[in-house]
Amino acid sequence: MLIGVIAIQGNVAEHVNALERTISERNCHGTITRIKHSGLVPDCDAIVLPGGESTTLARLMWREGIATEIQCAAESGVPVLGTCAGLVLLAVRSDAQREGAEPHLLGAMDIEVKRNAFGRQCDSFEVPLDVAGVGDAFPAVFIRAPAIVQCGRAVSPLARVGEYVVAAQEGNMLALAFHPEITSDMRLHHYFVEMI
Ligand code: GLN
Repeated sequence: MLIGVIAIQGNVAEHVNALERTISERNCHGTITRIKHSGLVPDCDAIVLPGGESTTLARLMWREGIATEIQCAAESGVPVLGTCAGLVLLAVRSDAQREGAEPHLLGAMDIEVKRNAFGRQCDSFEVPLDVAGVGDAFPAVFIRAPAIVQCGRAVSPLARVGEYVVAAQEGNMLALAFHPEITSDMRLHHYFVEMI
């Protein structure tokens, strides 16, 4: 099992560590690889899009040719996890795009997102979240987090904060508005590895 973490910018090391820990806890064989250039995604059995800055990530992913490779992988059923900015990248639309001047998103998941839905960096918070299929009281850390404001018919919302959907799955794609990679609770990484 080869899991590729898109390593252009953002919470890369945290995801690599969380995945390594998950794989060792499951006693299965797997390699985690950091992806900075095109040519590696097609060999991966799963892809992780970490948090960071979605505008920067999108721009560089298209420039490097990685974006098209991820679109193909997602379409062919390869599991893809997007966290925070990674969730924005998976979406069909974001509010910022509607205002123009934003690079294209991957459009792999039929969701529309609102960037920074919970406020600025100083409004960051942690909340115990019930995530359908994963369990109760997951310590979800929100940092300038986006929210899902609209889900297509094929999308299952897995968790909510107030009016917003903050975790959702569409087949092989899992989108989380928060950062499971920075807590010691590995339940969401286990859930993702089970999808592979
Ligand atoms: N607000 C950032 C964005 O829209 C995401 C923040 C994060 O990934 N922690 O790109």
